[in-house]
Amino acid sequence: MTFTLPALPYEHNALEPYISAQTLGFHYDKHHAGYLTKLNAAIESQQLKFDSLEDLIQAMPSGPVFQNAGQVWNHTFYWNSMTPDMHKPSDKIAQLIDTNFGSFEDFKSAFVNKAMSTFGSGWVWLVQNNAKLELVSTSNADSPLSQGLGTSLFTCDVWEHAYYLDSQNDRAAYASKFLNLINWKFAESNLV
Ligand code: MN
Repeated sequence: MTFTLPALPYEHNALEPYISAQTLGFHYDKHHAGYLTKLNAAIESQQLKFDSLEDLIQAMPSGPVFQNAGQVWNHTFYWNSMTPDMHKPSDKIAQLIDTNFGSFEDFKSAFVNKAMSTFGSGWVWLVQNNAKLELVSTSNADSPLSQGLGTSLFTCDVWEHAYYLDSQNDRAAYASKFLNLINWKFAESNLV
């Protein structure tokens, strides 16, 4: 089987002024679509058979197929992690954040610090393990799914292509803007 590119859950300009239509256009139309094209080409040439992208990611050793599959899954999760509607955390997640990070302000600082301490290209995730919420970094195409780090609630892409057109090298500025876009309803829907 091959995979299809899920539609963006909003228009290209919906996340402005935090993420520009130009950035979103390149990111989704070029980067995300490019990973999908490479993944499907590899699946066809190697005649791989998996029922789902998640199964493939958890079964494949590190290499081009895994890398493209991981990028496809991570980007879909990233689009779903953002919303133009600026939700606030539900009481349930707000309580978990207060318990695990001290306060929502402490969580926001911890998030920006985690983005800044992620070396090179990678991702920052809010992950749940039972009553524990934590921020974790993964590199390149890895994720909590591929590394068995827990249940992903939301992710932030910190590859430079996610912010360079808008903020150049200022990852902290991008991370701060991202905090305005988190889809807390999506995060809550991922709680187990
Ligand atoms: Mn990306």
